[in-house]
Amino acid sequence: MEKQEKILIIDDSPIQAERLRSILQDDYEIVLADTAELGLKYVREGSCDLVLLDVVMPGMDGFVLLKKLQEEVITQHTPVILITSLNDAVNEERGLTLGAVDYITKPYHPPIVRARVNTHIRLSRYRRQVEQKAMIDPMTGAANRRGYDSCCGRKWQDAMRLKSPISLCMMDIDNFKAYNDTFGHPAGDKVIRAVAGVAADHLRRSTDFFARYGGEEFVAIIQGSDAETTFAQMRQLREAVEELHISHNREVSPWITISIGGVTVRPKPSDSYDTYLKIADTMLYDAKRFGRNQVVWSNERMEQLREQ
Ligand code: GH3
Ligand code: MG
Ligand code: MG
Repeated sequence: MEKQEKILIIDDSPIQAERLRSILQDDYEIVLADTAELGLKYVREGSCDLVLLDVVMPGMDGFVLLKKLQEEVITQHTPVILITSLNDAVNEERGLTLGAVDYITKPYHPPIVRARVNTHIRLSRYRRQVEQKAMIDPMTGAANRRGYDSCCGRKWQDAMRLKSPISLCMMDIDNFKAYNDTFGHPAGDKVIRAVAGVAADHLRRSTDFFARYGGEEFVAIIQGSDAETTFAQMRQLREAVEELHISHNREVSPWITISIGGVTVRPKPSDSYDTYLKIADTMLYDAKRFGRNQVVWSNERMEQLREQ
């Protein structure tokens, strides 16, 4: 069954709110807020798909709330339909200019309310699908750079809040230019897909994140495990790529291999994500320098772990 979208009704009048609820509750999950302040809190929590907002309320009114919602990054994409008895053109214009997607005047006909809500839910569903697609690399099916950018900050914050270790990991296919030069670009694409597939198989926990960082480079974020455990896990991943036994140009290497660099840290508020990503990149650089096809790691004490 399709997910039931959640509609938030913000109205100071319980009678009006109940009336709207009775019109929509068969098709949607309904949440009620009797003040603009409470409504703002719910939208910020990010759980509702559409807001039906009463304009005339004591305290903060609907226009003020709408303006606030439009100004905040996390709330500005939630569609808002204004509901009011102010059926004059000036207020309608004001609401639409402030960013409401639609405007319903009281008294309303329930089928029209239902139809308009359905339309805007359909649009927001479509928008969400497009946004999700824009985060996926079509070649590998993994997250792309944009998906990574939108996720890494949140992961870092989670680790800080939970005081748990987080590992940042960079992977790069070895001597890939030579592979392309020998076997051609389409064969190279196949290798990128194969490596991404192995990595996805080794990063299966719901908190694991894996993305194509660009070209033949990948990035992974692993939460909750210490440096030694993650180092061992990445070593297995590296070995699994080698064991695919994808023939390389013999003068360069028998098989396709990857190098991996990573760092594990329990982040403190003074730590910056970028600093640690640079450390992971330096570890990758070392892995290349030490001869490729290996994992180099920096643990919580900034000691370097290498394969024997
Ligand atoms: P190293 O071991 O130091 O990483 O050497 P390398 O040859 O892998 O590194 P370099 O950065 O010199 O070359 C990367 C190559 O990856 C060059 C580029 O043509 C290739 N490449 C990047 N993106 C793609 C892609 O989407 N498909 C294919 N087939 N090749 C790609
Ligand atoms: Mg490479
Ligand atoms: Mg590279």
